[in-house]
Amino acid sequence: MSVATQSKMKVAVMQGAHHIDLGEKAKPSPKEGEVLIKVQACSVCGSDLHYYHEGAIGAMQIKEPFTPGHEFAGIIIEGTGKPFGLEDGTLVAVDPAQPCGKCEWCHSGNHHLCPDHLFVGGPPTDGAMAEYIAVPFSTVHVVPQHFSAQQAALLEPLGIAIHALDLAKLRPGSDVCILGAGPIGLYISMLAQRSGAVRVSMIDPLAYRRDFAKNLSADAVFENVESYLDYTKGRGADVIFEATTSPEGPDLATQAVRIGGKVILVGIPDGDKFTLTASLVRRKGLTIKLSRRMGHIYPRAIQYVDSGKLDVNAIVSHVMPLSEVKKAFELLSDYKDNAIKIVLEP
Ligand SMILES: [Zn+2]
Ligand SMILES: [Zn+2]
Repeated sequence: MSVATQSKMKVAVMQGAHHIDLGEKAKPSPKEGEVLIKVQACSVCGSDLHYYHEGAIGAMQIKEPFTPGHEFAGIIIEGTGKPFGLEDGTLVAVDPAQPCGKCEWCHSGNHHLCPDHLFVGGPPTDGAMAEYIAVPFSTVHVVPQHFSAQQAALLEPLGIAIHALDLAKLRPGSDVCILGAGPIGLYISMLAQRSGAVRVSMIDPLAYRRDFAKNLSADAVFENVESYLDYTKGRGADVIFEATTSPEGPDLATQAVRIGGKVILVGIPDGDKFTLTASLVRRKGLTIKLSRRMGHIYPRAIQYVDSGKLDVNAIVSHVMPLSEVKKAFELLSDYKDNAIKIVLEP
């Protein structure tokens, strides 16, 4: 093999909205403090789909060919950032967020709120739908070596769901509802079942996602808010999690929650805007919290999966080679082939 071919790698390349395919980029070499990871699994996230649909999330726009992917795991193969004693070939999960470590929010332990962070797989920073990626060792989490790469990659979305549960401070006996039976909504439902919810309901307009939720973790599923409210005799949920991509999602969530209830907004709305009905949220006296990324959660996500008490693979509908990245994005965008979570393997 020539040097020229050795230095290239296969990657997913997104040129802008509705434009993704397999391409080639230079293989990265790790800088000081970084490790080179051979990616073994990278799952497609709802936020990747936002970039695919709109070419942007808010101010983060695709301006040049960009490689998405922030839910990933792989094996360390080299790098100066590797601590002494850590062997090559060690399976690791990687936190895609790289907080600045210097700002007021980082110093107060709220690194997930750092406004100056870099995010792997958020433009312009290339992500892990690639054969290799170099990341700071400080963002690496060594997982139990019996984990599969897929389990390790899915710690990221599981962590997002754990953070949402943390915000909810769920009290035992709570009646919980989740709007949106996508991957994050499903993880939230699995966690709520294990965190004291007396009943977990899910609302999703798609029949296949309702069926999936019912089989996995929901006590009851509904097509819309009206039928859910009928089910609760008009009362609504004690706590509702909004995990959709719809700009109407937050307003619907406030309709489905009880007077004095709690609303946790986790979803990213299409078009970067949502509206609430002021009289409704005011008269109900709601507590509304917005979930941003996750705190220091990887160790708990790892423990949960390691315990065997939560099957992180349970939401995976497809495992596909990275070369089929275009098809993966199309399946998820069109809600075809019962797609829920797709894991890509380079
Ligand atoms: Zn994600
Ligand atoms: Zn910071």
